[in-house]
Amino acid sequence: MQAALKYQEIYSHGQSFTPTRPWLEFGIFNTRNPNRGPPFLQSRTAPSIRKTENKILLPKHHNPALNTAYFTEITKKILNDFYPKHCPTTECNNRILDKEISTRPDLIRCPQCRHLTSRLSYTPLHHFKLPIWMFGYLLYESLIQYPKVVTATELSKRLKIGYNAASLLKRRFQLFASDQLPKYKKLTYEALNDQFKVFLLPPNENRDITKIMAKRPYVCVDTAVLYSAGERASQGRKRYRHSGQTSSIYLSEKLGGRQVGTLVQTIAIKQGPVFFTSVSNQKADTLGPIIKDHLPTSTPLFTDQGYPWLWGIYKNHRSVNHSARSKDNRFRFARNRWSKNGVHNQVAEGNQRVLKTAFAAYGYIKPKYSQMYLNEFSFIKNANVFGLDVLVERDDDPNVGMRCRDRDAFAVNPRARMKEAVRI
Ligand SMILES: [Zn+2]
Repeated sequence: MQAALKYQEIYSHGQSFTPTRPWLEFGIFNTRNPNRGPPFLQSRTAPSIRKTENKILLPKHHNPALNTAYFTEITKKILNDFYPKHCPTTECNNRILDKEISTRPDLIRCPQCRHLTSRLSYTPLHHFKLPIWMFGYLLYESLIQYPKVVTATELSKRLKIGYNAASLLKRRFQLFASDQLPKYKKLTYEALNDQFKVFLLPPNENRDITKIMAKRPYVCVDTAVLYSAGERASQGRKRYRHSGQTSSIYLSEKLGGRQVGTLVQTIAIKQGPVFFTSVSNQKADTLGPIIKDHLPTSTPLFTDQGYPWLWGIYKNHRSVNHSARSKDNRFRFARNRWSKNGVHNQVAEGNQRVLKTAFAAYGYIKPKYSQMYLNEFSFIKNANVFGLDVLVERDDDPNVGMRCRDRDAFAVNPRARMKEAVRI
């Protein structure tokens, strides 16, 4: 309202400064957001603005601030690389469909028999109704904004779509991330298996292993709680059952014992990939299979004292005692209770700090969707480490993109090139 009035005022007085185009035409304000109609459209200045808008007749979702052609290319590359479509006709011998139609970016056809099919069906973009460049935009923004996350509110403002549409677009991206993440897991597993095939830490646990581990990938495992349920959440009642982290994710039993927080297990490699899993408790039966799924049993594994059951399975497991007592009775805790003889789990703690800081932007996420959000975050981090090219499986040789010994595959991370130790 004020902006519109000011514009009118300057214009009518005929001062030396006369704006040529109103700010409204630049599309900075959320005027196209269906959730937020501008309040001044009913005012006297409204008809003239409307007239100029109708004259241009821009396509729906037109956004002068974004390079939509570039983002369309990103979306097309995602679809071509990760969800290629094959021709079902027998004569074409399963060839990949690659003939595009200039006016229909959502369709693709066979150059040989002209078989036509949807580009988006049976992919994370199944029945996608928004322009396809928006998905590429979300991937691009998520990658460059890491370690900050892109929230649905931000998407809705930047793309000028409704909050629900933005939220569903984000969910599609999370599906894509969840779909691709197992490839990073496999890649990491193979690299670790290759590195530690015949490796044994010195049997004497008091020996300093800093030098032994200096040039090797340092693997840490830890758990953390997101959105913990304090006593206030349980309305002053006693907390759920036990003490510790499990108690902070459930409400008091008198309030139904519903899960409100998210317990996250972190498997992190120093300056390398990270994997987050949402778990329901900290029992060995819950955490054990996940660790075994991600790390070969010969991996040197560093944790705090919450994993006493690991020693039988992982021969190279070492733990650091966070509540070690000081020998000097002036102090309560020992100086080396975070890192002792080169054993620490700061890699996991550091990743959890990044996770917690980033997830503060969401405000709250339901435990039901926690794994989706964690997959998305871990996918973006791993994409920053490995790049996206390693994920592409080629038809001629299924192993060409997924080679763990291919050092070039890891060169995407500039830090990985500088130091020997970060190569896994
Ligand atoms: Zn064909």
